[in-house]
Amino acid sequence: MPKRNKLDRFARSFLLSELVAGFILTFKYMLKKPVTINYPFEKGPLSPRFRGEHALRRYANGEERCIACKLCEAICPAQAITIEAEQRADGSRRTTRYDIDMTKCIFCGFCQEACPVDAIVEGPNFEYAVETREELFYNKDKLLANGDRWETAIAANLKADAEYR
Ligand code: SF4
Ligand code: SF4
Repeated sequence: MPKRNKLDRFARSFLLSELVAGFILTFKYMLKKPVTINYPFEKGPLSPRFRGEHALRRYANGEERCIACKLCEAICPAQAITIEAEQRADGSRRTTRYDIDMTKCIFCGFCQEACPVDAIVEGPNFEYAVETREELFYNKDKLLANGDRWETAIAANLKADAEYR
């Protein structure tokens, strides 16, 4: 090793210059606004196009939007959706079964894109971790409950994104 390098290393060790540089950097960032957030108490912004947990929506009068056309079932590349339907006494067509196997879903958003009445959507909820596999087999009641819970946020997101669709 050349003599100059040895001297340089000795001077750095003796004067603790790297330690001092580290402290300066630390103090510099202590005075800046943090780039991290204290999740789950603080949450970052989400895009209106965020594809989270699925939900089935209703109209304002409480009627289900889904008309059981099965387009979402047909387009789903993961074959995660299962629908059964029948005609009601008033002649309208509604699902009797609407299941999504969330363990198969790849969150592609195709079901939402295919739906002609904005019934099935991927809402803003991403906090739905569960402890068992069975809890990820969603049925119609669960999906409608998700829709009722998140309708305000879902409607706002659809409105914000409407001009780009
Ligand atoms: S997001 Fe994609 S994979 Fe998931 S249910 Fe919809 S179409 Fe199927
Ligand atoms: S959710 Fe939409 S695409 Fe799927 S069956 Fe109902 S109306 Fe058709």
